[in-house]
Amino acid sequence: MKPFKKVNYRELELYKDVAEEDWNDWTWQLKHVVRDIPTLKKIIPVDALLEADLEKCLLRFRMAITPYYATLMESEYHRDVVRLQAVPTINELERVIDDHDDPLHEDVDSPVPGLTHRYPDRVLLMVTHVCSMYCRHCTRRRVVGSRDTHLTKAQIDRCIDYIRNNPVVRDVLLSGGDPLTLPDDRLEYIIEQIRAIDHVEIIRIGTRTPVVLPMRITESLVTMLRKYHPLYVNTHFNHPDEITEDAKDACARLADAGIQLGNQTVLLRDINDCPLIMKKLMHDLLKIRVKPYYIYQCDLSAGISHFRTSITKGIEIIENLRGHTTGMAVPTFVVDAPGGGGKIPLMPNYLLSQSDRRFALRNYEGVITTYTQPDKVFSNCGRCNICNEDGKDYRPLDGVAKLLAGEKICLEPANLIRRKR
Ligand SMILES: *Cc1c(COP(=O)(O)O)cnc(C)c1O
Ligand code: SF4
Repeated sequence: MKPFKKVNYRELELYKDVAEEDWNDWTWQLKHVVRDIPTLKKIIPVDALLEADLEKCLLRFRMAITPYYATLMESEYHRDVVRLQAVPTINELERVIDDHDDPLHEDVDSPVPGLTHRYPDRVLLMVTHVCSMYCRHCTRRRVVGSRDTHLTKAQIDRCIDYIRNNPVVRDVLLSGGDPLTLPDDRLEYIIEQIRAIDHVEIIRIGTRTPVVLPMRITESLVTMLRKYHPLYVNTHFNHPDEITEDAKDACARLADAGIQLGNQTVLLRDINDCPLIMKKLMHDLLKIRVKPYYIYQCDLSAGISHFRTSITKGIEIIENLRGHTTGMAVPTFVVDAPGGGGKIPLMPNYLLSQSDRRFALRNYEGVITTYTQPDKVFSNCGRCNICNEDGKDYRPLDGVAKLLAGEKICLEPANLIRRKR
């Protein structure tokens, strides 16, 4: 297999004297995060106009770029995909009519500060506001990159109490900020407590460190994490250029510890809004043992409108993947519903028409085919063990699933005018 790009940081004057041992030490990287214009100028050319814009931007939003990620920028090229994700532009100060500070209502659906409980059986625990690199397209820019703080121990304990007291929670998703900016012992404190809760089945960590700070994935970190299986890690690669030998090694360390890796990509204009780039990204991810999980339509957070593209583009990307390549390389394209409705999957239409018995379907080649349904479709439902013994855990349903289960005959908006007459 062709090797991925190897970073040679010594090519940059700024880092040429850095010892390899320091470079590969994530705490050194964090201490040397690029936060100001003079340092940035030593990495990429910044002309006077750009500098004036940057100054204005930095008054509103912070910049933070790990030295590792900074060396991936093509210095001469303004539209470089790494640079676009890392260096602020004046567009961030623009606010368009559909922008919101908290489009996903993560603060509204939050029973305790730091925790969002949106779906019936799983919660999002934002353990920190800190990231090693502040992505310019971040959906949580209202908190991330404006306060440089981890949650306090007291706040974490309140969140964990909430999980402990809510037996419906079977899946806890650690996010932030980036949970892996916490030192190992603080992270272990959180994971250990959550693992000790009987009703929590799985723990997931969402982190961008394999992309922006791969040296954070140390042997001691994975030795700690593997004690708490079943544990999953979702990372956030947006472009094939981000998959370097270092990123590959970081993912290998996690995968070797038995941790399944998934990837969440954000669909970004001028970065990855192209079926060919996306196909290469998905292939390269599978090569480093990461399973593509989601492609997100870019949220309506304020200051990122310049990154947004159409939903149509996302559907076109899925059209170009499904059938054309390995099924495992095809993620689910989702829109995270403004107002807190959660993720809504969208895809091309494969169902062309239907009659009593037959479906007319089309495949990726445009071949139109039929599937005939059996006459007898009612199952022997209601007699197996799941219904009789564990049924109570699986019974509570909401929305359309409730209609299909026959528990409700219709769903209505809360303030239906017709009802008031
Ligand atoms: C995305 C998300 C989850 C997890 O969703 P999955 O589809 O299970 O990966 C949970 N809670 C919140 C608030 C989310 O935004
Ligand atoms: S790593 Fe995630 S939370 Fe942090 S800045 Fe990037 S998108 Fe935002």
